[in-house]
Amino acid sequence: MPALRFDNAFLRELPGDPSTAPGVRQVPGAAWSRVRPTPVAAPRLLAWSPDVAEAIGFSPADVLAPAFAEVFAGNRLLPGMDPYAANYGGHQFGHWAGQLGDGRAIALGEALGTDGQRHELQLKGAGPTPYSRTADGRAVLRSSLREFVCSEAMHHLGVPTTRALSLVATGERVVRDMFYDGHPQAEPGAVVCRVAPSFLRFGSYELPYARGDTGLLRRLVDFTLARDFPHLAGRPNAEADWFAEVCTRTARLMAEWMRVGFVHGVMNTDNMSILGLTIDYGPYGWIEPYDPDWTPNITDAQGRRYRYGWQPRIAHWNLGRLAQALSSLFEDVAPLQAGLDAYGEAFAAADREACARKLGLEALRDEDLPLLQELLGLLHEGEADMTLFFRALAEADPAQGLAPALRASFYDEARLDAVQPAFEDWLGRYARRVAADPLPDEARRERMRAANPRYVPRNWLLQEAIDAAEQGDLRPLQALQTVLRRPYEDQPGREHYAQRRPDWARDRAGCSMLSCSS
Ligand code: AMP
Ligand code: MG
Repeated sequence: MPALRFDNAFLRELPGDPSTAPGVRQVPGAAWSRVRPTPVAAPRLLAWSPDVAEAIGFSPADVLAPAFAEVFAGNRLLPGMDPYAANYGGHQFGHWAGQLGDGRAIALGEALGTDGQRHELQLKGAGPTPYSRTADGRAVLRSSLREFVCSEAMHHLGVPTTRALSLVATGERVVRDMFYDGHPQAEPGAVVCRVAPSFLRFGSYELPYARGDTGLLRRLVDFTLARDFPHLAGRPNAEADWFAEVCTRTARLMAEWMRVGFVHGVMNTDNMSILGLTIDYGPYGWIEPYDPDWTPNITDAQGRRYRYGWQPRIAHWNLGRLAQALSSLFEDVAPLQAGLDAYGEAFAAADREACARKLGLEALRDEDLPLLQELLGLLHEGEADMTLFFRALAEADPAQGLAPALRASFYDEARLDAVQPAFEDWLGRYARRVAADPLPDEARRERMRAANPRYVPRNWLLQEAIDAAEQGDLRPLQALQTVLRRPYEDQPGREHYAQRRPDWARDRAGCSMLSCSS
């Protein structure tokens, strides 16, 4: 193994839990608890990301050496690693949940990569911590594979996200009741190594606020500014500027999720990154038939709080909880209100830009908004696959009506027939709008190809990779990883990955509905 350089600033700069005794507990006055990963029976590397490995300082030979799987299963430490679990709270489904913390994630340390960046390495599924509450600290292969593949895919889609270094099978089984219906099953276990410059969440600040611990909150904010937002340090209103930046980063993230059709599924405030990254991949999903009310999370099926179309407003609500936590550090809350207002403006601007790119227009003007709204209504009514439709629109000549590639993005002939006249009409108006746009035709297509992916990690594609990996066949996982490295490029021979959801996946667990049980 190479000698990595670690700078474990979080441990060094912030107060920790004095106890290292095992067992679940409340941890007041501390940002972290030292805890060792629990070794597993038989670590085996299933997948890894070449560019993340390289950025940290691992060669391909390092990754394939048996020691790598042992380290990233939690069985041994490299020099400089100093493992801990972070303490944080959060609002879950709109309600304050108190202390949550890393219940199954264990940070190994902050590696200073060969790329000059800070990479916090975090094992998810590495065993119990003081924050494990009633659970076992482990993760199943299916959810770990989903996090590994999707977080890397998001990066290649250009969406801010935590990354993933490795996926390691533990050789142990983990019992899960996937649908909370009294049918627990033993499933293969795995550990993902997640990587980000910082894993701080909105809930990291909410917990000291809720406990009235202004001293810890103050230190945490100072730490965040110094380590994660150094460009703001020394400014007269650094904290106000910081909150405004968190708001605008979050706004841009929401516009990106909406652009690619990603539905997070559990936007609790403990799952909101202070860096504006996509974090905590659980029961997420991708919009297939366009439906703003869709949520992949069965735990959310009643209230649909985390439905696709609500994500921007939920992010704003979550920022409101962060603002509330920070209010104890501000004499005047006006800058916090200004940050929340800036969120709305930043989201509107980023969303408009994303929609202009999706439609291949130089800019989306106010008078274009009805054209956009009408299209979304037709996609919903006609049950069109969002990804396939926009990609086909880039290639189609809209003046020619509903070309076969556009038709192929609809799920149901009868529903397509019902909207066809309105669709033909819409295409005619779109053709005229495009003809009047300053962008020449080929530039428009290029703009659309760069904004509308051909390939996204659809739940059923992930399920195929999971089913095979559970049987010991890693080829579908590797093939999926390869395709998703170039999501905006047409990849001849890989048509399988750019298809409508097949019928078998319509009601299959893991494809149409997911739970938090992972
Ligand atoms: P999530 O919904 O994944 O963001 O998790 C919410 C909280 O539950 C966090 O504090 C997690 O660390 C904790 N948690 C989730 N799954 C487990 C598990 N298997 N063992 C221990 N803690 C868990
Ligand atoms: Mg979480």
